[in-house]
Amino acid sequence: MPLIIITGLPTSGKSTRAQQLHAYLADRIATETPPNSQPKYRLHLISDQTQGISRAVYDLSPEHLPAHVRSANASEKDARAALYGAVKRVLSPRDIVVLDGLNYIKGWRYQLFCEAKNMSTPSAVLQIGCPVDRAREVNEARLARRGAASPPPPQSPLSPAPAATAETNNNPPPTQALEPAPEPLPQTEPSLPQPPPATGDDDDEPYSPSNWTNLVFRYEEPNPMTRWDSPLFALVWDDGLEQTRTVFAALWDVVAGVAARPVRPNQ
Ligand code: ADP
Repeated sequence: MPLIIITGLPTSGKSTRAQQLHAYLADRIATETPPNSQPKYRLHLISDQTQGISRAVYDLSPEHLPAHVRSANASEKDARAALYGAVKRVLSPRDIVVLDGLNYIKGWRYQLFCEAKNMSTPSAVLQIGCPVDRAREVNEARLARRGAASPPPPQSPLSPAPAATAETNNNPPPTQALEPAPEPLPQTEPSLPQPPPATGDDDDEPYSPSNWTNLVFRYEEPNPMTRWDSPLFALVWDDGLEQTRTVFAALWDVVAGVAARPVRPNQ
C-alpha cells in the first residue's frame, strides 16, 4: 500500500484519526501474518510532528511576516520538502505510509500520488470532516492553554521565518455540511485497537488565529473525480468506532487487500 494521505482542516481531528488508522493497520498486519512468518508490510506514520515542523511554517499572515519574505513561501516549501523526503525514503510496495497532515494543496497531493505511482504502489486519500466552528474551538482551546493569543515561536529547525503567498488560492471555506458532534469517541471496543484519548485536553501546538483562518480559506477540497484524490474516503468528527472500522477496512482492501492491484508507473 501504500500511501494513505490524510487531509482536513486545521485542528479537525486528523492526528487522532491517523493514530487510530495506524493502530488498526498494525493490528491488521499482525493478524494477517501467519505464525513464524515475516509481516507482509512495514508501517510508518509521518506527520509535521514526527518531522519537527512547527505550525508557524504555514503562517502567511502579513502581521507575522516581514514583507520581503512573503513571496517566497519558503518555510512551507521547506516543510513540504522534508515531508516528501520522509515519505520517499520509506515508500515501497512493502511499506505502508500514513501521511498525517493538512495536505491541503491539490498540487501537493498530486505530487504524492505520482510518487506512489513511481513506486508502483497504490495511494488513497482519507479526508477528515469537521464543522469549522468545532475545529476553531479546538484551536482556541489550545491557544488558551498556552495562554497566548500570539503564535508560539517556531520550533522547527527547517526555517523559522514564516512564509508567503505563492500557493494560496481563493477557494471559499469548505461548504460540506458536517454534523456537529460533541461526543468523544467511545474508548473501548474489543475488535479495534484502542483509539487515543479524544478529550480535547491536549497540549499540541496551536495555530495563531490568523494562520488558522487563512488555512481554512486556502483549503483545497479533495475531488474524487481526479486520479490523485481517489479513491477518497471520509470520516467525520462524530463517526464512532463501527463506522471508523468500516472505513479503515475499506481502505485496507483498496491498498493492501483483495482490491489492491499493482500500479504501473505509466498508468
Ligand atoms: P489535528 O490533527 O487536525 O490538528 P487532532 O487530531 O490533534 O487534530 O485533534 C484535536 C483535538 O480534538 C484533540 O484534543 C483530539 O483529542 C480531539 N478530537 C479529535 N477528533 C475527535 C473526535 N472524533 N471526537 C472527539 N474528539 C476528537
